[in-house]
Amino acid sequence: MQTKREGGLGLRDIQNFNTALLAKWKWRLIAEEKGRWKEMVVSKYGLGSEVSRIPVKLQSWWWRDLAKACGEGEDEGWFQKEVGWKLGRGDKVRFWEDIWVGNSSLKTLFPRLYSLSSNQGQKVEEVGRWDDEVWRWNLRWIRARFEWESKLEEEMLTFLSTTSLRREKKDGHTWGSEDERCFSVKFAYACLANQGRGPHLEVFKLLWKAKAFPNMVTTAWRALTDSLPTRERLSRKGTILNNTLCALCQTTAESSQHLFMECKHTLCVWSMCFRWFGIVLAKHNDIKINFESFHLFQVNSKQYLVWKGVWTTIVRSIWDQRNEVVFKQSVVDAEEIFQKAQIKSWQWLKHKSNSFTYSLVGWILNPMSCITSFK
Ligand SMILES: [Zn+2]
Repeated sequence: MQTKREGGLGLRDIQNFNTALLAKWKWRLIAEEKGRWKEMVVSKYGLGSEVSRIPVKLQSWWWRDLAKACGEGEDEGWFQKEVGWKLGRGDKVRFWEDIWVGNSSLKTLFPRLYSLSSNQGQKVEEVGRWDDEVWRWNLRWIRARFEWESKLEEEMLTFLSTTSLRREKKDGHTWGSEDERCFSVKFAYACLANQGRGPHLEVFKLLWKAKAFPNMVTTAWRALTDSLPTRERLSRKGTILNNTLCALCQTTAESSQHLFMECKHTLCVWSMCFRWFGIVLAKHNDIKINFESFHLFQVNSKQYLVWKGVWTTIVRSIWDQRNEVVFKQSVVDAEEIFQKAQIKSWQWLKHKSNSFTYSLVGWILNPMSCITSFK
């Protein structure tokens, strides 16, 4: 066998490749509606039709081996993470709990509404009805909602309008990224090879795709990995400083976490940003979670990456202002931080897209229609 250096496969690669091949059986069990092979397995092991939801303990040894290969244990494994739904008539997909629209479950996106819902655990088809050829949602709640909760509901319904039920089709499974939609050994192999490179790999994959100037993305990356020279980090690394307090507020140690997420000034910046897009502020203190859950509905995947680019631009703008305060004794001004980010993100749009014709004022006044016009 050739060694890795000679261009051959390492032992780990071969193990991963075998595992990827094995995982294909699991995919067939989940995805295939019928077939002799599946009937045989099902009759032998007594598995129901919803194989993927049977607890590992109750499954056969063979199935357990397969589950092990797919990395299932305490957490959901690498295989399960890639399993998604393609909505048909809504006969199998659970409305709140499964991922069938966008990249997260509705339960994760709208936890408040979930806690108020009487539809928990129900299939999509149970959460509405056909009115001739038009599907109408019929969400039920355990109590009357406050005004802001109704706004959330509206937001969710708008989000749901990006997808539609298909009366004549059963729900089916998908696997892998948006382009794949179906199990491939190649993609499975790539997933396995990427394992163990930190729990937040997905965050970074998304970050590098964000649509903004490269220096914005780089700064955001450094903020996410806590590798910017904040005062707290410098002193942790042995630099002696007179003052390790946040340059903006002078009250708390200047860590990345504090500077970008918790400082009273940056909180102002974030809430201006959310107000700008007219969305309800979801407060997440962890910087990675904040980036991941910086959601915008009613946009396609490309426009979504522009929105992620806005996030990186805000982070960069905070960092720039912090440096101005440290090195040029400027005064902190949350509004200025925010406006500079607006300008920078507009410049990017203008620079990158010929079809983008909005003026800066247009971008500031009506960001949503600008972003949805981005092609
Ligand atoms: Zn501060």
